[in-house]
Amino acid sequence: MKNNALKMTTFCMLTIGISQFATAETTRPTLPLLKAQQLPAWCDANLKKIQQQITIFEKTPVKDNAAAAPILAKWDKIFAHFEDFSGPISLYSNVDPDAKLRKAAEDCEIKINQFHTDIFQNPKLYNLIKNTQATDPIDQKYRQDILDQFEDTGVQLEPVKRARMKAILDELTKLEQEYARNVRDNPEKLEFTPEEMKGLPQSYISALKKNAKGNYLLGFEYPEYRPFMELADNEDARKRYQIAFTRRGTEQNLKLLKQAIDLRYELAQLFGKASYADWVLKDRMAKTPDAVNQFLAEVQKTVAPLERKEVEELREFKAQTLKTPLEKTEITRWSEAYWSEKLRKNKYQIDQEKLRDYFPTLAAQKWLFAISSDLYGIDFKPVKVKAWQDEVEYYDVVDKKTGKLLGGLYMDKFPREGKYGHAAVWGVYGGSTLTNRLPVSALVTNFNRKGLNSDELETFVHEFGHALHGILSNTRYASQSGTSVERDFVEAPSQMYEEWARRKETLSKVADYCDPACPRVDDELISRLKAVHNYGRGLRYARQTLYAQYDMSLHTADALKVKPLENWQKMEAATALGYVPTTEFPGQFGHLMGGYQAGYYGYMWSEVLALDMLSAYGDNLNNPQVGQRYRQTILSQGSQKPAAELIKDFLGREPDNKAFFNEITGQRVK
Ligand SMILES: [Zn+2]
Repeated sequence: MKNNALKMTTFCMLTIGISQFATAETTRPTLPLLKAQQLPAWCDANLKKIQQQITIFEKTPVKDNAAAAPILAKWDKIFAHFEDFSGPISLYSNVDPDAKLRKAAEDCEIKINQFHTDIFQNPKLYNLIKNTQATDPIDQKYRQDILDQFEDTGVQLEPVKRARMKAILDELTKLEQEYARNVRDNPEKLEFTPEEMKGLPQSYISALKKNAKGNYLLGFEYPEYRPFMELADNEDARKRYQIAFTRRGTEQNLKLLKQAIDLRYELAQLFGKASYADWVLKDRMAKTPDAVNQFLAEVQKTVAPLERKEVEELREFKAQTLKTPLEKTEITRWSEAYWSEKLRKNKYQIDQEKLRDYFPTLAAQKWLFAISSDLYGIDFKPVKVKAWQDEVEYYDVVDKKTGKLLGGLYMDKFPREGKYGHAAVWGVYGGSTLTNRLPVSALVTNFNRKGLNSDELETFVHEFGHALHGILSNTRYASQSGTSVERDFVEAPSQMYEEWARRKETLSKVADYCDPACPRVDDELISRLKAVHNYGRGLRYARQTLYAQYDMSLHTADALKVKPLENWQKMEAATALGYVPTTEFPGQFGHLMGGYQAGYYGYMWSEVLALDMLSAYGDNLNNPQVGQRYRQTILSQGSQKPAAELIKDFLGREPDNKAFFNEITGQRVK
């Protein structure tokens, strides 16, 4: 992961979900298409339908210690119906080309969340589940997960506190939506003169809009921002763009973040917890803030000297290149990407723009399908399906051996105005073996149409890892499908898969799918790519540690006294590159307002597990035996077992962090 490279997976707010496919015959699980004006009525009608099902469920006569299985099956089915419309709503509010529809979907999301809170604050429903007795481990885990969800929504709180909990959750949804909207819909364009475009390739420049004065207009989408920071020679222009980029969430977002932090603290108080982090972490692998802080401190201790060393290397390189005295040469935040890119080109002969010739976008996709197909024994069959936008593709994912349809994959690859700006996967539907419900994942990225550089290729493979985690899920209950695992494990399968975008045994195959022909990745390029990957390690992990520690610093027992921007200024100022006055990074740090609050550490926590799991592949990433075992023990299991058990099943031993610390210190054997 790179600084600011926000790879994330997005889950429906409701991690529960079964289906319309209650017949033995499985149907293609495509998503419903909606029009903005129909959406409010559709939303209300669906909520009403679910309410009726809940009312019937509530009247289920249950004796004490009744068998859990039939009750759990009924419950899961209701939530699958819920997911049938809440899943698409969550996706469309981020990707639909029609701003009116996005807004209508957001309004529906608010209703969905309110409705959801009502259900999970209903003591009758809670008691009904609690009175059951589960005998097999999957039912036991599911029953406990449901009870936890009730308890976390405040079902056991006294009525006044319960009502307050509901109000807080409502308010948080609104704050988070507004925050995301401020970033996503920011129409601001910066103006740059032709002179300031020096250093950028012609293909980049010619795709830009110009104003009447002949100046170029640049917005905040990654395909515009990133190359500029890496290639534009003009220091002041880069500085101006970077500052504006960190402020793109607008000042308003700093206020929204603060409001959210205060509300989260209040929420934790309702449950008698010392901090929001304490409240969140009890359900995670990490369990306590102490465990997280200790882990982060250990990582920081390891990476801080590496970061300083890399900045020093960069400074020396800049001094040599510009023939300036070293003591007068400085690396700034807005020149880090630029000089890193120059150093990569000069020292390792890696030109990110030229790498696009090696990885044409379509060839990269065909390659990714092919390696996933060989590894996991699956096929991707393109089907013409009408989707939310004309360029969106749909694939049936089929098991090679049995020919069985496993699930559906949507791909929305290219940027457009108003679309979610990062890369993410929406696990729109979960699957269930009990009802033949098939999972659907939607992969959303903002790629260059012509080709990918090595970072973007990694992003593609990473997100694909999330998509496969959803689609190859084979769980009894839809609620336990795919990515419903603990949040600090959810990135592990996708992070592990990134390695497939780094090694020769896989990358050398991309050229097989190029039309017209493209250069083939060889040993020499691999060793240069590896050197480049290793080069940025200190800066990369230091940045990730900073993000995670910053996140934890906002959600402590002292949260009410916290000023988000001040914390950030202090913490960033302590890093090798310092804090740049007027930047407002926390105003556009979407993770903190999108499900990763008190959870950003999960990326590195997951990476510990990802690298440990990766070790099972040894020298051959194409080994289908390991791939199949991984599919069976991890991907297909969803959250039927705690993540720690899944990993043990796959590795045959307890997980450890050796591989991770070897990776960050550059001592990885393979
Ligand atoms: Zn991810």
